Amino acid sequence: MTDQSINQLACPSCPDRVPADEEILQYRCGGCGEALRLQLPAPRPFVELVAAERGLPWRYPELVPVQYEPELDDHVLPRVVRSPQLESRLGVAEVWLVDGTALGTGTFKDFEAAIVLAAAKQHGLRRVSVHSTGNTALAYRHYAQRAGVSCAGYLPRLNVDKLGDITADPEQPLYAIDCAYAELSAKAKAAAAADGRVHLAPFDWKLEGKSVLASVIYEAAPQVDTIVQTVAGGYGPLGFEVGFERLSQVVDTPAGVLCDRRYRLYQPGDADTLTWAWQHGIDRIEDSELRLPEDPFEPTLQSTNPVATLPQLRAGLPVGSTLESVPPKTVEDLRPVVDEILAEAGIALDYQREKSGYISLTGLLKSEFDPAARLAVVVSGSRAFAAPAGPGSWHLAGN
Ligand SMILES: [Zn+2]
Repeated sequence: MTDQSINQLACPSCPDRVPADEEILQYRCGGCGEALRLQLPAPRPFVELVAAERGLPWRYPELVPVQYEPELDDHVLPRVVRSPQLESRLGVAEVWLVDGTALGTGTFKDFEAAIVLAAAKQHGLRRVSVHSTGNTALAYRHYAQRAGVSCAGYLPRLNVDKLGDITADPEQPLYAIDCAYAELSAKAKAAAAADGRVHLAPFDWKLEGKSVLASVIYEAAPQVDTIVQTVAGGYGPLGFEVGFERLSQVVDTPAGVLCDRRYRLYQPGDADTLTWAWQHGIDRIEDSELRLPEDPFEPTLQSTNPVATLPQLRAGLPVGSTLESVPPKTVEDLRPVVDEILAEAGIALDYQREKSGYISLTGLLKSEFDPAARLAVVVSGSRAFAAPAGPGSWHLAGN
């Protein structure tokens, strides 16, 4: 079914074993249980790894473990633009803004959804599901439609506003669940199992869509040394690290950000589980330690993932990486300044829909950096959402 010459996941410990579809979808070797790994081509110039006519996440075909899916390609590449305003306000050498809102549904979740739905299609899944605070469900739904896969979305009733005026589609049902956010994952998985759906997406697949942003940064601004982003569970930087690691192996003369980088990550002050743990030297947290406010400043950043991601962040982020908490009040106070910075960069974020981008940019404005620092800021909010083309208006199926 797939071209055997590229994009193969294989077990690093079982070289003779060809993983079955099931193992690839789990991203785990069925023999030894180890995570699979993408087999990379021999080192060569970066330019030879770029399929210039394709948009993300398809532009770097040998760096992702899925085949090209033309129907899932928006032919859009996130703009990477310098921010003279931030450079002068922070007193640093360079600041580059990476517009993470360029693809189908206008949020950072599109990168992940495109890859995950391509993998589902290519490995024989036709009925899948996902749970989310809203944006992920929208993004998965959008790419599922285009991939010809049925994807159910489960989200907290509190968050149904996020869906806007999307079109009804019986193949892509959405279920509002009455529960606290912390219970959503278990309830969604149970409902999905009862409906005969495979619940997405395993940890390593969630990282794949983000990994391509490493190549975008390397292509546009290979000299940066600090990656900045707002995080909830931290899948963003973990995914970027997958991409940077791959690049450092396949680019013939790795330099700049491939050799020397760190992360400056921000969280909203009311949901800053990872920041609290990071700053206190804590390596592992329990469900009971998650900071999940009932009325969060930014619902999209509600996450139970830190239980799984904190140990991964400890193991995977480069030395010198830091997390910081940003008070919601400060985000509101500095909103006019951030609006000016975004306007200069030509990035049109919808503050009402998602404040993520505002949180990292506010955090930056309150932070200090070495004057020689070169920053790449992955702007992960949402642009104003217009439902992708389709007839009718959306409805929620009951649960
Ligand atoms: Zn193995």
